[in-house]
Amino acid sequence: MKILCDTHVHTVNSFDGESTVLEMAEKAVELGLSAIAVTDHMEAPEIRLGADSQFGDMLRQIERSVREVEEISPRFEGKLKIYRGMELGEPTHQPKLTKKAMGIADFDFILASIHNLKDEEDFYYLDYSTQDIPRFLGRYFDELLDTAENADFDSLAHLTYPLRYIYERTDFRPDLDDYAEKIDAVLSALAKREKALEINTSGLFKTIGRTLPDINVIKRFRELGGKYVTIGSDAHRASDLAKGIEQGLKTARISGFEHFTIYENRRPKMIEIWY
Ligand SMILES: [Zn+2]
Ligand SMILES: [Zn+2]
Repeated sequence: MKILCDTHVHTVNSFDGESTVLEMAEKAVELGLSAIAVTDHMEAPEIRLGADSQFGDMLRQIERSVREVEEISPRFEGKLKIYRGMELGEPTHQPKLTKKAMGIADFDFILASIHNLKDEEDFYYLDYSTQDIPRFLGRYFDELLDTAENADFDSLAHLTYPLRYIYERTDFRPDLDDYAEKIDAVLSALAKREKALEINTSGLFKTIGRTLPDINVIKRFRELGGKYVTIGSDAHRASDLAKGIEQGLKTARISGFEHFTIYENRRPKMIEIWY
């Protein structure tokens, strides 16, 4: 049986989200999805700023996100499973604040992300024309390794994410072979700790035109003993929900994964890929 899930979904409880939890759930039913995980943003280092954060009061936003998931879930019983998730940014930058964020709800699923390097701006705001890109990417993979080895999470989100901006804003096309050792270390750490690697399909619709990470990295994860992959669209509005999910599943299948994974109460559930 064809089972489709989207486990990377933002709502208005993310500073950059445009649809409500209810709108996302209704869209998911319309698309015939079996489950979604609502994973609104929680940038761990921002917690100390409270409501003064440029992203708003992220603790309150996540509390609201989880509460809304719990409130509407009964209405979708038998039709759609809606998981309580969070996209946890930079969990190793501020371990104490990260712990606080983890404690505010009973989560089903935690995605870990790096959206900015320590003491630097979000990748979105960087001026790539003045960056030493190889050095910047080296630091990015080092921080991912720290996250993969030490943070509390279920799946590592959008590995190679900065490439999305580098492709959009510069003519520089980094060769990931230059970072193979660092990437292998990240993938091995994930495999050893039995964490999942996310296949983020948002890149398919950007200049870069491929999943984040791409098929070579996903294949390598399998070779290094990776067992779990999660698939997410990173939709910020209902019209983008599940975009590219089928291609993400095919990519996983070609890379040697017979199952994709969803998380309930932080436990992996493997679902067969039918391709
Ligand atoms: Zn992200
Ligand atoms: Zn996201």
